[in-house]
Amino acid sequence: MLKGKVAVVTGSTSGIGLAYARAFAKEGVNVVINGLGDAAAIEKERSAIESEFGVKALYSPANMLKADEIADMVKLAETELGACDILVNNAGIQHVAPIEEFPIDTWNTIIAINLSAAFFAMRAAIPGMKARKWGRIINTASAHALVASPFKSAYVSAKHGIAGLTKTAALETATFGITVNAICPGYVWTPLVEKQIPDTAKARGMTEEEVKKNVLLAAQPTKEFVTVEEVAALAVFLASDNARSITGSMQQIDGGWVAE
Ligand code: NAD
Repeated sequence: MLKGKVAVVTGSTSGIGLAYARAFAKEGVNVVINGLGDAAAIEKERSAIESEFGVKALYSPANMLKADEIADMVKLAETELGACDILVNNAGIQHVAPIEEFPIDTWNTIIAINLSAAFFAMRAAIPGMKARKWGRIINTASAHALVASPFKSAYVSAKHGIAGLTKTAALETATFGITVNAICPGYVWTPLVEKQIPDTAKARGMTEEEVKKNVLLAAQPTKEFVTVEEVAALAVFLASDNARSITGSMQQIDGGWVAE
């Protein structure tokens, strides 16, 4: 169903984003991957997508802190691959600290990457989607778009912001064949989660093992991490024609976390 479409996935050099790019490519979707990291490792992932799935894969080095680079990333998809049919706003970072100690620069960076970048990308992609009367925008939010946790003020604020942006964009595009949804994962085992364990341990006065068991998986009734493949499969469904009536929604994939 999606064969021949074009997806732009931000923050797809690692974790959930890379799984999205690979899952779309498996459906025959040409992809633009994006994100930070070692150039050789990124090139390896890019060429693996092309050779494994027989699609075109381009890399955009756009920094999600820069509105003009984000617009260029969308333009790259449109000029080199013909369109930006599916936009996945996924890049995100985390910082864990009490509000009174939270660095101001870090607050600004998290709001920029986790929230404003999605707005800039939508702003660039929506005109083409409207003209083609088809589009899918999928924002990686989080369970933290729906509930809070202490010591994650910037992240929780940005993700609640993404929920509002998702609903607003869904209303503005509803009559153009465009859907806009957010995926709200619980804890998924990726570098983002792994990296926050030492700081969480420090903030809560726990060992790293205690953080995994008593903080991370404590929130998740299934007591299991969500996998990147499960999150990616949900995105593929949201992009499909069977999901054309799903818009403005928050899709929880969190092992029951926000049900509590
Ligand atoms: P990750 O650290 O593995 O991946 C983050 C990606 O964002 C990387 O590709 C990185 O290069 C990119 N990125 C970071 N800063 C960037 C910048 N300035 N410009 C361009 N790219 C940038 O993390 P992940 O866990 O895969 O997270 C992906 C998304 O999923 C994030 O939005 C995160 O908030 C969300 N999420 C993750 C979890 C989880 O448990 N892992 C849960 C809920 C939501």
